[in-house]
This record gives sequence, structure tokens and C-alpha cells, in this order.
Amino acid sequence: MVSSEAIPTGQTRIAGLPQSRAECEALDQADPLSRFRGRFDLPDGVLYLDGNSLGAVCRDARDALSRTVEEEWRTDLIRSWNTAGWVDWPVDLGEQVASLIGAAPGQTIVADGTSINLFKALVAALRMNAGRSAIVSESANFPSDLYIMEGAASLFEGTTRRLVPPDATEDDVIALLDDDVAVLSLTHVNYKTARIWDMHRITRAAHDRGVLVVWDLAHSAGAVPVALDEAGADFAIGCGYKYLNGGPGAPGFIYVARRHLGKAVNPLTGWLGHARPFAFVEDYEPAPDIRSFICGTPQILSYAVLKGALDVFAETDGAALYAKSQALTDLFIGLVESRCASAGLHLVSPRDAALRGSHVSFAHPNAYAFVQALIARGVIGDFRAPDIARFGFAPLYNSRADVWDAVEIWVDILATGEWQRPEFAIVKKVT
Ligand SMILES: *Cc1c(COP(=O)(O)O)cnc(C)c1O
Repeated sequence: MVSSEAIPTGQTRIAGLPQSRAECEALDQADPLSRFRGRFDLPDGVLYLDGNSLGAVCRDARDALSRTVEEEWRTDLIRSWNTAGWVDWPVDLGEQVASLIGAAPGQTIVADGTSINLFKALVAALRMNAGRSAIVSESANFPSDLYIMEGAASLFEGTTRRLVPPDATEDDVIALLDDDVAVLSLTHVNYKTARIWDMHRITRAAHDRGVLVVWDLAHSAGAVPVALDEAGADFAIGCGYKYLNGGPGAPGFIYVARRHLGKAVNPLTGWLGHARPFAFVEDYEPAPDIRSFICGTPQILSYAVLKGALDVFAETDGAALYAKSQALTDLFIGLVESRCASAGLHLVSPRDAALRGSHVSFAHPNAYAFVQALIARGVIGDFRAPDIARFGFAPLYNSRADVWDAVEIWVDILATGEWQRPEFAIVKKVT
């Protein structure tokens, strides 16, 4: 179905860009990460470019889930909390995530979801910096993060949100940090543009002004290098179902820097964050370690899936993942810009791969219809209002040949005008 011809002469060529599907295949073959593709069961006829929103299922995750259901839950029943160690999974999986985000042991747990963990981190930070009354962020942050900031601020009399506008620079953010700012809350890789904030520089500047920093790693963990300890981050949170492939609604993670443990207080004071949960005493006493950021019973079946998915990462290294991610996003940008040039797509992601996460966004007034037409042809990306077509490149399972084929289909959709079919204008509930 997909042609393997070279780019017709007469179109723009970008230096170093593979010029044919065969060239992409050859590069894939030479790539050590290509061996992971077989672990992922992607359906035939699908080019999946949405692993930044919902990672694909891998065999390891399915096996882990079936083991937990069949060999633990079915057989050992409630004893599995001890025999299979379920009770320690928040901490065990936390350490698996820690190794991907530059966190030494004892500071990361898997629990709840990204939004809830952000709430826990923000409230803890606001209490630690009581006396200051602002949360700084950017208006282009993911909406849930902005809403959670509103909710957290509403619990502290007089506390407000101060937002830098879209396209603000690091200097603009730093300029907003004064003695009244309690917390700076930023998403490391922007969900729309994929632009990366300089975590080290911003964290240092915030600390110089007494501001605590919460980093959202939703679009970073599993694709982009993160060095939380080295950057001196105070808190971080992130998502289990994006590049970590933990499945729909997978639990998220939270990191609290060691120096804050015992001081930072989780506002959701559930029994499993208690120092002695099975003493069943009347009053809350937080665990002295990262366990205090657990609230209630972990969703074990979801943990099982995430655990299996995280095992795959133990066989990789972060630098290789990011190098592959950059190769894929560079290739996609280069091919779209050279082959779809006449469509007037506008790249909203940074052109410099060092400033870009693992997805690429193009703005266009017809972005919604383009994405729907691509999905109908098996190229799954997503649309982000008001006018962005977004494509994620998961370094564990996407290949250069995927990129080539996806662009080939987009070229065809544009050439035939297929995207203009009326059904592609109908806006679905989930975009
Ligand atoms: C995906 C994402 C979330 C998701 O939050 P949930 O609580 O899992 O729904 C939050 N923040 C950012 C920046 C995201 O990209």
C-alpha cells in the first residue's frame, strides 16, 4: 500500500535526511533499539504515533497482568499482599521509575494519578513556604495542572496563580520569581509544543529566591533524559500511561527530594501513608519516608501492567532512547516540511532537537480534519485544540520506516483532498 519510492526530484531536500524508505529501513536495522519493537503487539495496518498520550501494550505488561490475576490473586488471594509483595509495589515501582528520572532510591513512589500527585506536591510545598502567596506557572501548561493549581491555591487564603504567557522564555519565568512566590510549577516537556524547559537553570534560579519547584514529567519519563537529583528538584510528578506504557489510567508517580522527607506533608492522609498502617490507631502519623505520599490501597492490577512495562526499560539506557527519539522527530519534521510543503503546515515544536521532547506538533487551520483522515488510514496521532496536529514518537517501538510511511500517507491525503470528506469534520468526544 505504501510506496517505497524515493522523494521525487524537484522537492526540497534536507541535508542528511534519509531520501527513501529503503534508507530508513537500513538505519532501523542498524539501530540497537529496534530489537524492542517485537515486544510490542501493534495491530496490523496501524502506524501508532500517539505513545505520548497512551503508550502501546507490550508482551511483558500483558504477561505481568495475567501472572498477577492467575498466579497471585486467583491462587494466593489476600495472602498475595505479603506473598507477592503487593504492599510494597508503590515503592518497588517507584524505584523502577526513579532510575529513569535521575532520582536516587527512597524518593519516588508510584501512586494515584498525575493530577492527584500534583495536588499533593503543591499543597505540601505551599505549606512549607507558608507566608508566601503565589504559585507561578505558564498559561500554556496542561490544563489539568492549571486547574489543580487553582484548587490547591484555594485552600490557602490569598494565594493566587501567576502565569507567564505562551512563548515566555526562561528569563521571563525567572523574572516572576520574587519573595512572594511559594512554588513554581512547570511541565518539563510542553504537552503541545514539546518544548523543554531547562530544569537545572530554572530550579537553581528558583532556589536563589526561596521558591520550591514542582516538575511535571508527564511527557518526559521514558523518552527524555531527566536528572532530578542533579537539578536539585524539590518535587516531581508524572504519568504511567504515556511513554512508560503502563496502560490506560495507569498509576502515576511522585518524587519528593530526600531533604524534604519528614517535612513535606501529604495532604491526603490515608492509612497506607501512616507510619504503622496495621496498628489501626486512631490518629494519623505520617510514615517517615516517601511512603507518607501514599494515600490508600494501590490498584494492583494496574500496577501489574505498569510493572511489566517498566521491566522493559531496565534493558535500555536513557541516552539511547533520547537519541532515537531525536532521530525520529528530526526525520518527521524534515519529511513533512519537504514533502507537505505546499499545505502550509507550521511547525510549533522547537526545530532544535536538544530543546524538543519526543513529539512534534504542526499548526494548521485544518489540523482536525488532517488528523481524522490520517487515523482513517491507520496513522494514529492526535489533535489538540485549537489547531494542532500532534504526533508522538516512542523510541522503544517506533521506527524510521513508520515515520516514512506516515508522511507518505499524509502526502497522499493532501494530494487527493481526502481530508475534506465531511465525516472528518465531525468533532469526537475524545480528540
Ligand atoms: C497527561 C498529562 C496529565 C494527565 O493527568 P491525569 O491525572 O493522568 O489525567 C497531567 N499533566 C500533564 C502535563 C500531562 O501531559
